[in-house]
Amino acid sequence: MAEDQLDLFASSDPPPDYPLTLGHATLTAVPTRSILTRASGFMSDYDYTLNPYSGCSYGCTYCYAAFFARSEERRDTWGRWVEVKENALDVLRRMRSDLRGKTVYMSSVTDPYQPIERRLGLVRSLLEELAPRGVRLVVQTRSPIVARDIDVLGRFGAARVNMTVTTDSDRVQRAFEPHCPTNQKRLAAITEVAAAGLPTAITMTPLLPLEDPESFATELHSTGVRDFVVQPFHADRGKFIAGTRDAALQLEREMDWTAERYRAAVAVLRSQLPGLKEGREGFAPE
Ligand code: SF4
Repeated sequence: MAEDQLDLFASSDPPPDYPLTLGHATLTAVPTRSILTRASGFMSDYDYTLNPYSGCSYGCTYCYAAFFARSEERRDTWGRWVEVKENALDVLRRMRSDLRGKTVYMSSVTDPYQPIERRLGLVRSLLEELAPRGVRLVVQTRSPIVARDIDVLGRFGAARVNMTVTTDSDRVQRAFEPHCPTNQKRLAAITEVAAAGLPTAITMTPLLPLEDPESFATELHSTGVRDFVVQPFHADRGKFIAGTRDAALQLEREMDWTAERYRAAVAVLRSQLPGLKEGREGFAPE
């Protein structure tokens, strides 16, 4: 999806007819039976994960979430389809469990702020339902649309926004994440969220090749965010699907992003960003 398509929709637009083609991605609507899923694996520090959409139109080359798609066809076409869980709000409202103090990670296998979210407001409606129920929320996104929901996020007793920014290089970002919002838009959005007084973090997960680690650290610091997470590129993760793995590995080789260069870049970031954590520790709920 082209970057400017992020701005195509307004919340006042009528509901779309499905299937809907947006750039390279096809959207359909599917009913869901549950919207809060017991967290497990890498997310097991949380009580629940919340994925308002299935699939992801951002289609990052290194995305491990593709592995969890329900069919080989869905894995092979990862990045080109999105399913909207259109009854998610009803399902959440019917969920009678006491959610007070429960930790929720949104989202683990999609980005909650898909471009269509600007028009649908699905995430926003879920936030409005969750805020008074005492949930402790972490939002993980690459999208500036999150800034739209600052007001609702402010109604939570505890809500943190994690913005993923993987590199300082537009060239690298376009190669690994051709359909994602630009770094500039992500940094502007998280600056706005931090300025509103919400807890924030910038997650460099994975950290991709950097042009200038020192000035990158300065740029990150200037957002007002003070918590940072870095994680290596999981190129050797056995669960990657072959296509994704090959594409990301090839880019990694072409850009000569070696383990040594990664460690050297992290050392520079660590020297300038005292709040830097590594890997899973950085994702734990507060
Ligand atoms: S935004 Fe997240 S879920 Fe979507 S393709 Fe990229 S890494 Fe995967």
